[in-house]
Amino acid sequence: MIESKQSLFVQRCIAPECRAEYGLDDRLYVCSRCGGLLDIERLEDVAVEAASLRDVWLKRRSSADARDRSGVWRFREFLPFDDDTAVVSLEEGNTPLYDAPRSADYCRLPQLRLKHQGCNPTGSFKDTGMTVAVTQARKLGARIVVCASTGNTAASLAAYAARADLLCTIIVPGGQVSPAKLAQALDYGAKVREIDGNFDACMNAVRELSEDDSVYLVNSINPFRIEGQKTVAFELAEQLAWQIPDHLVVPGGNLGNSSAFGKGFRELLRSGFIERQPKITVVQAAGAAPFARFYADASRSTLINEEHPKTLASAIKIGAPVSWQKAWRVVSETGGSVITVTEQEIADAKAVIGRDGIGCEPASATTVAGIRKLVEEDVIKETESVIAVLTGHLLKDTDYVMKYHNQELVRPDGERIVSTFGNSPVRVSASRTAIDEIVGAALRGRPS
Ligand SMILES: [Zn+2]
Repeated sequence: MIESKQSLFVQRCIAPECRAEYGLDDRLYVCSRCGGLLDIERLEDVAVEAASLRDVWLKRRSSADARDRSGVWRFREFLPFDDDTAVVSLEEGNTPLYDAPRSADYCRLPQLRLKHQGCNPTGSFKDTGMTVAVTQARKLGARIVVCASTGNTAASLAAYAARADLLCTIIVPGGQVSPAKLAQALDYGAKVREIDGNFDACMNAVRELSEDDSVYLVNSINPFRIEGQKTVAFELAEQLAWQIPDHLVVPGGNLGNSSAFGKGFRELLRSGFIERQPKITVVQAAGAAPFARFYADASRSTLINEEHPKTLASAIKIGAPVSWQKAWRVVSETGGSVITVTEQEIADAKAVIGRDGIGCEPASATTVAGIRKLVEEDVIKETESVIAVLTGHLLKDTDYVMKYHNQELVRPDGERIVSTFGNSPVRVSASRTAIDEIVGAALRGRPS
């Protein structure tokens, strides 16, 4: 092992005309010279033996060491920490990659699989980044960690802060976070502050808070979050026996996910683990789609924020996506695209995923809805292999699910969503006839 691994890494401004370099332990969130986003960068390519490292990573899955049991720290050769760093972990990662025949039929795409990041400890993909960001917070000696959140980040940060014994303050848009996510944050002991305004207003508030030295900001603007999330690309490649799919499709909100997957695959390619990257495509809800509009605009000069984002998929209800420049680099580098889907398409796709026995939150279903559209438009060919990334668990937003199945789901503009695959409960008496009827009805609903 290398003596001081972290000396091989720096923080680097991603603005091409700036590229300013900072130490790993400089407490920055954006470039202090130009305000650009920061990336963690490896200074020199460490000679890694891809073949032997693949073996090491696989063997760690049967190890009892806490770092090896984490699907993030298992890949620590690519993380900017010394090997003796005390990591803050909840055994995140190692999430399933599912076959999903009904979803595949729905998309008319035989080779569709779902990578379910909702199977992380707090039920969303945020945990893979949070384990790294909170580890860094503790290393820097921060006393308080803060974030703005639409819910999932709050739940995740609250849990990791509790594990690290750090104080935690979370700013959420009042009345706009699903009760399940809020419940998680409260139970893990975070101080939750609701403000009048949307997510973007919360983001401005935490930026001001983070000017205090005892405070560490862990929104996805924080480059250490992306470092953790990039390991999902490593895990996915391993699950696919290092055979990279043609397409990877992710939901688009703050755009940290697409940025992280892109960085992960880019590093794997550079180190000789894989021979090409998948095309990375981002799907946004039509009512919260600043990145899709940027993509559709031929000039592509700058992203124009959406002041009043509207979607029932609250996890991606974001009008000013922090990581859009990183995400744009990924989409353009890999030849992917950015598209939108309607509230109706999201709701139906979510129900179809459910019929595969896989429960996700609405934002996750943008992927299957988007893939169906891309196959229809022949952007994705029927013979291609596609991975859809599900970002959060069904139990994150049961209100949405119940309303859909009870034909009560209403779009932000007041229009009713059609429950194409609705499945509402029926009240019956406890009599013998009623019981016989239940069995009969169940069998009639099923092809023999
Ligand atoms: Zn800069």
